[in-house]
Amino acid sequence: MSAPKSPTTTTGKQATKNQTKTKYEIPQVAQKELTYLLGEKNVCFTRELLSVYRDMAWGPWVRQTVNPHGMVQPKTNKEVQEILKIANKYKIPILLSGTSGPGFTWKGGLVIDTYSRMRKIHKIDTESGYVVVEPGVSNGQILKAIRPLGYWISFGSYPPDISSLVSLYLMQADTNIIGKEHDFCIGIEAVLPTGEIIRTGTAGLGYDWWAETRSIPVLKGLWSGAMGTMGVITKAALRIHPLGEAQDIVIVGFNNFDEAMLWTHKVTKELMANTCMIWSYRWTQWQNYAHDNGVGFMKYINDTLTLKPDQVPLGYYPMYAFASISGFREQVEGNVKACQRLAKELGGEIVNEKFKKQWPGTWHKWDEMFVDHINPGMAKRTSHVYGIESSEQSFIAITNIRDGKKFHHAVMKRFYEKYGIRHVRYYARQRDHGRVSFQRYVYMHDKFDKETLDREIALERDMDKWISTPEFKKEFPNITKMVAHTVEIPDENDPDSGKKPKLSYDPSWLIEKIRKAVDPNNIMDPASREMGPPE
Ligand SMILES: Cc1cc2nc3c(=O)[nH]c(=O)nc-3n(C[C@H](O)[C@H](O)[C@H](O)COP(=O)(O)OP(=O)(O)OC[C@H]3O[C@@H](n4cnc5c(N)ncnc54)[C@H](O)[C@@H]3O)c2cc1C
Repeated sequence: MSAPKSPTTTTGKQATKNQTKTKYEIPQVAQKELTYLLGEKNVCFTRELLSVYRDMAWGPWVRQTVNPHGMVQPKTNKEVQEILKIANKYKIPILLSGTSGPGFTWKGGLVIDTYSRMRKIHKIDTESGYVVVEPGVSNGQILKAIRPLGYWISFGSYPPDISSLVSLYLMQADTNIIGKEHDFCIGIEAVLPTGEIIRTGTAGLGYDWWAETRSIPVLKGLWSGAMGTMGVITKAALRIHPLGEAQDIVIVGFNNFDEAMLWTHKVTKELMANTCMIWSYRWTQWQNYAHDNGVGFMKYINDTLTLKPDQVPLGYYPMYAFASISGFREQVEGNVKACQRLAKELGGEIVNEKFKKQWPGTWHKWDEMFVDHINPGMAKRTSHVYGIESSEQSFIAITNIRDGKKFHHAVMKRFYEKYGIRHVRYYARQRDHGRVSFQRYVYMHDKFDKETLDREIALERDMDKWISTPEFKKEFPNITKMVAHTVEIPDENDPDSGKKPKLSYDPSWLIEKIRKAVDPNNIMDPASREMGPPE
């Protein structure tokens, strides 16, 4: 359908009647202006149709969110500017959506979907090593364009249609080059909440996008981690990497977590591998049936019912660690040898050949992801064939190597001894040359009935309480839980107060001042800052 002639000649798709009016609703006059700007087919104000924009990829069951009140799909940065001007005029709360939905639609508002129509790759510069892309460009799309040129862009296990800008920059995703490279973005173009466009780095000084530049403050960080509250990013220069003359992988079976950790740390610290990870037996087994058309699912279930944590059938290891290596031929050969020697010194067995036979599905995934740098993706669907058995409740700890090792044993013990959960699958990887350890523990509950959902929520709260106690802080001074805003650190003098201690160096006041300066009408996702996650 073509765009209507004037803002007064159409009603667009109308908001649902008989709802209590809140500041999150979109006045009809604003609906008309947005429809006039973008055309009817690029707007939707029928709230019932917008549930897809309310949750992250994992589904809404643990998030008490609501459908947004409207959604618009701009194509250009100019349209984004106009949308924000209208939003400011009527003080409409804005939520930004990349691939999956904003995730925090606590009260609704207007979603700006920058994924569906902003899909242009503006530039590929292999010499300087970057691409300039719009927010709707996915890593699958970039890989298709740059692999024939001998380059790749990093990606995680998420599907190839996830927005590269959102995953690599806004969400700071962990990827298959995270051991060597953890900053994927050189510069951005953003439309501020009030409608002005800015660019950061050399692009902001009128040059090309090749450098962050040190001659003015490095501003790009203001938008990363801001969860869509600092403005709309409309372009970004993302780093790309040579495929390398040779690629290889070293796979090691370990019996002991500390030794496996030490190996991944040594390898990552010396920049020998793109990424180096530990996968537990059960994570390996889960991925195996997911990438082998569901074959082995029943064994997985049986193991879940019978094996204790870290207990495995004869001939298998409780954990497998691997190093993904690429570069010039001699460099790869040398790194493979060094990785193998270090693994043996730490009691590991090199199991490449055995692994391929025992775990054909997982091997297929690793070969594509960590050797060939092709994104095999992972389905979002809930089905044994797709590898998601309904629960994805994770405990993610971000820490350093010292606390990481200790924490692993404490958390595994707690899951089993305190909560009776024997099935915890986990992986651990190191970022940033081994400075940061990312450890993820997925514990198995089926959340489709209320009783188990309640039990899971209670468990999560209990874990939060545990990691907030002064004893825990003393034992593990450097554990931060992902989605840290769900954790309240009690006042040390009054552990039951549930209040965070006031830190004299806490920068949140400065961030709030900047936010007020760029968003004077407080339109950028006010609900998530007002409320935080619900009790
Ligand atoms: C199957 C699967 C596997 C995964 N594996 C990994 C993994 O290996 N490693 C890892 O780290 N993560 C992994 N994840 C998580 C993944 O990184 C996130 O789900 C993904 O990055 C979210 O991207 P999105 O576009 O869907 O986010 P959205 O929820 O759409 O957006 C995320 C945030 O960015 C903001 N935003 C969106 N667009 C803009 C814009 N244009 N300007 C400014 N702000 C904006 C939104 O407001 C929101 O706060 C996985 C997820 C799935 C589903």
